[in-house]
Amino acid sequence: MSRKKIAAGNWKMHKTFQEGQGLAQEIRTMANTEVMNGATILIFPPYIHLQSLVRQMEGSDIGVGAQNIHDKEQGAYTGEVSASMLTSIGVRYTLVGHSERRQYYNETNESCAAKISIALKHGIIPVYCIGETLAERESQAHFKIVEQQLSALSGLSREQLANCIIAYEPVWAIGTGVTASAEQANEMHAHIRSVLSGMFDEASAEGISILYGGSVKPDNAKSLFSMPDIDGALIGGASLASRDFIDIAKSF
Ligand code: PEP
Repeated sequence: MSRKKIAAGNWKMHKTFQEGQGLAQEIRTMANTEVMNGATILIFPPYIHLQSLVRQMEGSDIGVGAQNIHDKEQGAYTGEVSASMLTSIGVRYTLVGHSERRQYYNETNESCAAKISIALKHGIIPVYCIGETLAERESQAHFKIVEQQLSALSGLSREQLANCIIAYEPVWAIGTGVTASAEQANEMHAHIRSVLSGMFDEASAEGISILYGGSVKPDNAKSLFSMPDIDGALIGGASLASRDFIDIAKSF
């Protein structure tokens, strides 16, 4: 997979089944009738929507992904969903390591590595989420933290890395209304590429899509997307309103 312009919507724990169908239909209609500037659109709804939204998006270029994946093939893991269950209904993407999962469900760089590995084994593209907290940025530890998070990719081959997407989401910018400036975000994206270049090679680092996430809105998307190392956005709150989400996707 080469570098793409991507607008990805993380619905988090929002939208009933009926509301989700309505939102997805609006997104599909807008993406189909408006000039999209080559953006790839992905949506990450809660599990209950996946099967119907995969069907609803058939015949469009809109991808549907899970917000989480279990790191084991199957077994006694009550409440969890496996990679083969996801592929059996046509899911081709999953978020891994979103900061809310790291914060509330104890996900670690090690568990993320296992999730990335099983996703790739089943042909699912992981969107690996990384980013520092406010305290880590204020203590100037942000580059080091992101480097440690990137270690979850260290067991991959170059071919496997090429099937991953990275989302840099500073925790202090998620759901807060505070966005990293385009320069701050690009600085970290460039750092991520330089770390990946050391771990793999320059071509791999240049080829991977790196999304920014954290209070992306229609009015700040253009300046973020104008930066050379920012390939798109992972969008939370603004992805719950079809007009805002599509306007962000049109900002490339
Ligand atoms: C997210 O949930 O990944 C996110 C970036 O949320 P928001 O856009 O609401 O900050």
